[in-house]
Amino acid sequence: MSAADTHASCNSGTRHEIPPRSGTAFTLAKGDRLTVIDPRGEQVADLLAFRRGDLDEVISSGRTLDYASRIYLTTGDPIYSNRSNVLLRIVEDTVGRHDFLLTPCSADTFRIIYGDEHPHRGCFGNLAAALAPYGIAPDRIPVAFNVFMNVTVDGETGALKVEPPLSRAGDRVTFEAETDLVIGLTACSALQSNNGSFKPIAYEITRAA
Ligand SMILES: [Zn+2]
Repeated sequence: MSAADTHASCNSGTRHEIPPRSGTAFTLAKGDRLTVIDPRGEQVADLLAFRRGDLDEVISSGRTLDYASRIYLTTGDPIYSNRSNVLLRIVEDTVGRHDFLLTPCSADTFRIIYGDEHPHRGCFGNLAAALAPYGIAPDRIPVAFNVFMNVTVDGETGALKVEPPLSRAGDRVTFEAETDLVIGLTACSALQSNNGSFKPIAYEITRAA
């Protein structure tokens, strides 16, 4: 085994792929880095983080946007919990446009907004299924940090518009865990959020130790 291989096995991330319209969950330890990659471009990934060992603590859109005093977060910005602790910090971002306003797409989203009679379970259902083995019930799922999602706001009326993501193939965002976490992550299932097609999401975990 070469020095490079040794480094790869103990520190650098293995690349994983989340198939279209699905999700996964995994743990991070304090100091670990998670890189979310858009392999083909224009694909959203919903991200959740819960504190490991006390699952009542979870990322909070309200607190994070309040403390940032703006809705678009990027490199250097912390993501706060419902208890105002920083759970994740954005340490690299090649796009600079993500959403932290809108709830994960769900069967209800597709029924109410799209009029689907037999709706897909969406990011919400995918997150609920992936997080169930960690003891996280669906009612605990908050607004996700929607990586690469492009939601614009009319400054006068407050009207929201879901626009095509600005991400191109290979674009990435890296988060550093500020504490031990359970992470939920999806390849988003909503047509409008992903400019009309469902694509995979890739991710890499770089362990701190
Ligand atoms: Zn979604």
